Amino acid sequence: MNLADIEAGGETMLTVGPGALRDALKHHFGFDAFRPLQQEIINDVLSGRDVFALLPTGGGKSICFQLPAVLGSGLTVVISPLIALMKDQVDALTTAGVPATFLNSSLEPEEVRERMRGLDAGTYRLLYVAPERLALPRFAADLERWNVARFAVDEAHCISEWGHDFRPEYRRIADLRAHFPDRPFIALTATATDRVRDDIIERLALRAPRVYVASFNRPNLTYRVSPKQGAPDSLVAWLRARPGEAGIVYAQSRASAQMLADKLCANGIAALPYHAGLSADVRGRNQDRFLRDDVRVICATVAFGMGINKSNVRFVVHYDVPKNVEGYYQETGRAGRDGLPAECILYFSHGDINKFESFIAQKTDPKEQSVARAQLEKMTRYAYTNGCRRRELLAYFGETFAGENCGSCDNCLDPRAEIDATLEAQKLLSCVYRMRQKAGGGFGIMHVIDVLTGKYNKKVEQWQHQELSTFGIGKDVAPARWRHIAGELMRLGLIAADAAQFKVVSLTEQGRLALVKRTPVVIREAAVAPLQASKSKAAQAEPDYDNELFEALKAARREIAGEQNVPAFVIFSDKVLRAMAREAPSTLTAMRAISGVGDKKLADFGERFLTVIRAVRG
Ligand code: ADP
Ligand code: ZN
Repeated sequence: MNLADIEAGGETMLTVGPGALRDALKHHFGFDAFRPLQQEIINDVLSGRDVFALLPTGGGKSICFQLPAVLGSGLTVVISPLIALMKDQVDALTTAGVPATFLNSSLEPEEVRERMRGLDAGTYRLLYVAPERLALPRFAADLERWNVARFAVDEAHCISEWGHDFRPEYRRIADLRAHFPDRPFIALTATATDRVRDDIIERLALRAPRVYVASFNRPNLTYRVSPKQGAPDSLVAWLRARPGEAGIVYAQSRASAQMLADKLCANGIAALPYHAGLSADVRGRNQDRFLRDDVRVICATVAFGMGINKSNVRFVVHYDVPKNVEGYYQETGRAGRDGLPAECILYFSHGDINKFESFIAQKTDPKEQSVARAQLEKMTRYAYTNGCRRRELLAYFGETFAGENCGSCDNCLDPRAEIDATLEAQKLLSCVYRMRQKAGGGFGIMHVIDVLTGKYNKKVEQWQHQELSTFGIGKDVAPARWRHIAGELMRLGLIAADAAQFKVVSLTEQGRLALVKRTPVVIREAAVAPLQASKSKAAQAEPDYDNELFEALKAARREIAGEQNVPAFVIFSDKVLRAMAREAPSTLTAMRAISGVGDKKLADFGERFLTVIRAVRG
């Protein structure tokens, strides 16, 4: 079956061979191969099945409904909460030659009427709508006229109150399902715990959906933690070592975001702020300039980034400690969507943790308080860990990272020295044991350390802990050092802290055995290394493309993007331009062989880029 057959072969019940599907991917979107699960999902969607797809950010969810939309007949309706993203997605589709439009509150009434006429005439393959639109009277009747082939629910976790981003308007989608019982639904999200997943499936009343869950591992991202001491100067040096790379610096407060933007600018690094203290106008303009590669760094609060699909974000720096791991993972996920290496840096300080802790202490709802504490605890654990950070992150999403060394986190790249701590371990383990024995219950690690170091305080007095044989046996070691050792014993599984019970510490079975058998215990050294101003992996590797040509191609892209009034990545991604700068194709046919070059873009922009290649290469 060839492409022409598919396009002529109209019905929703399509079965398409793998070759033809790949041809269609190339023709419309320019990609040479599917990302994991895309092809399976697309096949199910084309066969009219309900699908639930959990793919990480950058996993390529959009193609899962966009390709079926161009292959079958009828309209694919995409429900998305991200009004800013709709315009970009529609621009990107239009540029690729796929007729698409959106309806949301940002449009003038006349524009809406014109688009509705287009929908009545069957002009479009895809329609993006905000969930608010579903509440409008007559919208269901409009949809009936428009020959809807399927519904795609993007950011589907928004329908669940168990998720981190509940939007009540999403509940209206259930009415839609009731109204169109025979149309397939595709639910897509990048964040969902088991509970949220079940909730989505139930609320959307998906019928025997095929459930796809991709790995959350992002192999092209490198994770590092750096002490905050010496920042922001260390950040300036680090950014200077990566000229020409674009990225996001996240801060917790407006003041901090603004301070960073000012600091970077004062040091000759083109940066703009993005936070709620700026007018919507200024925010929009700053975001645009970042998307269009006019400015390479954006210093932002977490308000920034939902729905940013700029593909060439080379780094995401968290200047302040984030509130939870889930948010951290989502924010770092905005780096490296193009699949090229990208870096994620977390600046860590105890000051930040203390600030959060006192903030949490002020919360009045005890449930909220304990949730916030547990989340912060996990975040702290991530920062403290001596183990692989990738493994730690993936474990948070219930995924086990296979393999010892991930090769792209600070702990795997520069493992810290290992030292024998058998003696210290014996002291700590026996102290925990004796305290439990005496009181019949447990204590938090800070109190254990007070007893070890012989600190006589109220709590010691209250429990008569000064009478224990282990009182003061760890005097020769500083409390901070004990904290580290305790963290290591936890990582090694010799002690455990019960989060549900005020983090009370106890020996595990393995810890009990280590105590009685005096098993040697090897721990890793403490301090995380400060951020090195060395070049990024991407910059270190001798570029395998012609840099002069790359810059010239970028300039041409900027010019075209300006003319068309769209973000630069809508024209071609950096990855495509690098490939062009590497291969320097001299004909349109050669250019088409590059992944990311589809037929419509080839026809529209191919000659212009060829001219640039000829001019530079002579
Ligand atoms: P998500 O919505 O899952 O975060 P997107 O759909 O925005 O991800 O895709 C992320 C990036 O990957 C986009 O730049 C997209 O064009 C690109 N992409 C998607 N599928 C493929 C593919 N099969 N090959 C190469 N690039 C792809
Ligand atoms: Zn690792």
